[in-house]
Amino acid sequence: SWVQDVQINDLVEEVVNLSSQKAKYTNVDIVTRLDPNLPAIRASYTEGQQVLLNLINNALYALESKNDRGRIEINTKLADDHIVIDVIDNGSGIPAAVIPRIFDPFFTSKPVGKGTGLGLSICYGIIKKLGGEITVDSVLGEGTHFQIRIPSENPGT
Ligand code: ADP
Ligand code: MG
Repeated sequence: SWVQDVQINDLVEEVVNLSSQKAKYTNVDIVTRLDPNLPAIRASYTEGQQVLLNLINNALYALESKNDRGRIEINTKLADDHIVIDVIDNGSGIPAAVIPRIFDPFFTSKPVGKGTGLGLSICYGIIKKLGGEITVDSVLGEGTHFQIRIPSENPGT
């Protein structure tokens, strides 16, 4: 996949659009707060799509069993020379004992046929390649917060 100047906000808006039908159908609000002054980064556009799509799909899944209205918040900002992307949901949350395993390839808590367990390990690899990091913070029954931090001057791939 080709490295180009990628505007993260464009990526977010595109992937939110791709997810909007499913979100509407499952009563989930996706809200974004995007820093208009975010610099472009050198990255693969399709890899960027993969990362955001997997995070949003995971969040939508985690919201499926929720009775009240679900919410996914996606924020971008520049902080300490890093592009920071937050993806926050108020879904099922992740049991504390499971959190250390979620980035492992093939780890899934989903029923057979619903998940490969590859999504987050692929996200991890893509972000790592950009010199960045992806971390998670989750409270069972309350929700989950993924944070991606990428140096704004990244080495590219
Ligand atoms: P898959 O989606 O195929 O299960 P992933 O690597 O994308 O594989 O995710 C691994 C696991 O991490 C999921 O099965 C789930 O247990 C947990 N997980 C990921 N994102 C969330 C989330 N937003 N809320 C709750 N659990 C999550
Ligand atoms: Mg997934």
